[in-house]
Amino acid sequence: MLPTKLLLVVPCYNEEEILAKTHHTLRDYCARLVAENQISSESKICFVNDGSRDRTWKIIEAICEKDPTSIGVKLSRNFGHQSAILAGLMEHISEFDCFITIDADLQDDIEAIGKMIVQHQEGAMVVYGVRDDRSSDSWFKRTTAESFYKLMHWMGVPVVFNHADFRLMDRRILEEFQSFKEVNLFLRGIIPLIGFRSEKVFYKRLEREAGETKYPLSKMLLFAWNGITSFSTFPMRLVLYFGAFNFFIALLIAGYIGFSYLFGSTVPGWTSIVLPMTFFSGANMIALGLIGEYVGKIYEEVKGRPRYIIEKIVKDQIHP
Ligand code: UDP
Ligand code: MG
Repeated sequence: MLPTKLLLVVPCYNEEEILAKTHHTLRDYCARLVAENQISSESKICFVNDGSRDRTWKIIEAICEKDPTSIGVKLSRNFGHQSAILAGLMEHISEFDCFITIDADLQDDIEAIGKMIVQHQEGAMVVYGVRDDRSSDSWFKRTTAESFYKLMHWMGVPVVFNHADFRLMDRRILEEFQSFKEVNLFLRGIIPLIGFRSEKVFYKRLEREAGETKYPLSKMLLFAWNGITSFSTFPMRLVLYFGAFNFFIALLIAGYIGFSYLFGSTVPGWTSIVLPMTFFSGANMIALGLIGEYVGKIYEEVKGRPRYIIEKIVKDQIHP
């Protein structure tokens, strides 16, 4: 079998401190894979500059001048991690067989790349890099990140636990991905929706060697919120549940009032205030929740996701 033509996509945002080292490490590692005949010598590394404000782009240009296996892509402004990955992938979709996305800080163990390639050769179309050891992360990062995966799972979003954006994708996956037209990108949610055979490769998450995280808490929360609202209409349904609960409480209060009325211990005016208040706030929320259900349906329709993806069709197999 011919070795795979691989593209490594590296999103870079203000990574001047680490980029040169990242390039060396990745280039040497790819050269090793080429020598071992695991990947084709036409494999490349694509650095995507996501509107950095430091010298990142200058460094990428210098790298590309010297190293023919590197490609530089410059976005016109900062579009965010997910869009940077997408730009690197989609610009080269027809030129490579498989694609691996990896962060510029090399917190993800590059040795996993070789394992991903092996899985791909054995037929996996997607290989998720999963961190099974996050001890190098701060307590805060680890807890918030893991709670995020649990919350997403609980709301019905098909994310792979402890998998970020370190993954291998076959070209076929990207071709199918093109029929997902949504603008709000949450790749970790969309890729599992595409289906096909997938595998996981486990690795230990390392510490960032230089520079700071480009995902401060505010960006992380925004990312999580985007993930939830792009994949789940659960928050809207919560309003419906809450309304129904309120309504039920109103019924209980009505029963209690009837009971007190019969036994003569009512305070004048209480009933006429509290009962309608509980009753109508419950009814209001149910109505809002119902509207939410329809808005949710409209939302699903507007996204225009494909209703099915065919892996293959087998016919006319028997020849006389
Ligand atoms: N990144 C990007 N655009 C952004 C923010 C981050 O391209 O707006 C890149 C960044 O350069 C890195 C990757 O996304 O390669 C992940 O960021 P980081 O390592 O800071 O996140 P963390 O590992 O702390 O979650
Ligand atoms: Mg990082």
